[in-house]
Amino acid sequence: MVKGIGNWFVKHSKARPDRLAFVYNEKRYTYVEVNERVNRLANTLLTKGVRKGDRVNALLFNTNEMLESMFACAKIGAIFVPINFRLSVDEVLYIVNDSRAYHFIYDCRMKSLVEQLRDMKSSLQEYIHVGNNPHKEDSVYEDLIANASNKEPEYDIRLEDVQMMMYTSGTTGRPKGAMLTHGNTQWNAINSINIIPFDYSDSTLAVAPLFHIGGMSVITSPLLYKGGTVFLEDHFDPTRVLQKIHDERITSIFLVPAMWQALTNVENFGAYDISSLRIAISGGAPCPITVIEFFQKRDIPFYEGFGLTETAPSVCILDRENSVRKNGSVGRELIHTSVRIVDPNDRDVPTGEVGEMIVNGPNVMAGYWNKPEATKESIKNGWFYTGDLAKFDVEGFIYIVDRKKDMIITGGENVYPIEIEQLLYRHPNIKEVAIIGYPDEKWGESIKAIVALKDSGQPLSSTDVESFLHGKIARFKIPKQIEIVEALPRNATGKILKTVLRK
Ligand code: ATP
Repeated sequence: MVKGIGNWFVKHSKARPDRLAFVYNEKRYTYVEVNERVNRLANTLLTKGVRKGDRVNALLFNTNEMLESMFACAKIGAIFVPINFRLSVDEVLYIVNDSRAYHFIYDCRMKSLVEQLRDMKSSLQEYIHVGNNPHKEDSVYEDLIANASNKEPEYDIRLEDVQMMMYTSGTTGRPKGAMLTHGNTQWNAINSINIIPFDYSDSTLAVAPLFHIGGMSVITSPLLYKGGTVFLEDHFDPTRVLQKIHDERITSIFLVPAMWQALTNVENFGAYDISSLRIAISGGAPCPITVIEFFQKRDIPFYEGFGLTETAPSVCILDRENSVRKNGSVGRELIHTSVRIVDPNDRDVPTGEVGEMIVNGPNVMAGYWNKPEATKESIKNGWFYTGDLAKFDVEGFIYIVDRKKDMIITGGENVYPIEIEQLLYRHPNIKEVAIIGYPDEKWGESIKAIVALKDSGQPLSSTDVESFLHGKIARFKIPKQIEIVEALPRNATGKILKTVLRK
């Protein structure tokens, strides 16, 4: 009686048993094989005392074990807690203890961090080691799978049961565990496949990290819901991504803007045939229009989507038909999700005006783990307050204007950094740019551009920036200062860390 997302594998393994589910390096597993491996792992976890509602941590790369662990937890109602493998040991410890997990599945490449973790005071009782050279006290993943029963676990899983706890990326503060239910993940899949034209014959290259909701659920989990094939890549190398798409005739891919941008810089881009891509989605941060245009000029159907960890994630995705005409928009609200754009008094703002985007629907999380106050602040009457500023156009397309926290108020005028950044990305010498505000006695805040230059070696002065922007935007939006840096600080999912820049 499996009713959560584990059921997807039960059904697909009957309907199309030989269809490939996961491909990771030389490993290729069909739906039947994955279902069996997942059952074996689930049964092992049960014998180790994992019960419904228990949290299981996973410090894994994008490998078959990552997705198997997620579905094994799903089948027995345990809560899967993937952890960002770029975090420091203290940050990992924070998540382990905050989630109060007893079981920790980790990749052998993380062994040195795990050795440190072992010596720290935590809730953990057992480590499960994936790969070679395990610690002598650890259980070994493949041995567990080999020795366990493949019987379907008999668990009663409801759509309202928490399936996964994803820690927000911490761009704006300490990470919080967003409790995503089976229903959230399933509705996200249903919502997504209503607009993304998937078929079970489709494939994706899962290279955006799966510990982040973008990598896990913009394409990967909706495609698994549909019965497609996931090719797993455990690190991002832009040339390798192009090569993989070329070799495996990959049909869909989700990347964050920084990754898309890196693809545009690959020498010999044209030598790779990536015409198999029917679906190319960017999300997680604003995508420079120049990057969108780069792919569209090469006939790659490129759409932008918008979402958050707390909404499992997709709220809106631009559709193929409108992708060129509405570049810069993140699309219309998805079929089962509602979006409102409101002023500080919760009144809907008129079309075209900027307000905070709030979201309601079956994809909105159950709340933050152990943080009732933070939950109450962010979900009111069923509406999740995104903290993002946005506007509707007359046809209902949504444009993200900026994060509320990033808005600059200079001389009483509201300035949205993304607008200036999008323009500066068109400057021939600029590779990366972030606009921030800094305190100014006269204006309240003034605007600063922090820029990384292209390798061409051409310099850039504030006068260059000023004359480039002159006439394109109002004078008060033109940065007063410019600082050149080697590269902008980014988090593991490629988001520019404006909090670090402001410091
Ligand atoms: P934290 O909540 O810990 O501060 P975070 O806000 O980066 O981290 P995520 O859930 O990873 O958490 O990202 C969601 C945010 O990403 C959105 O609130 C929005 O600001 C941004 N975002 C996502 N997609 C887009 C997009 N297409 N365009 C602009 N911004 C986007």
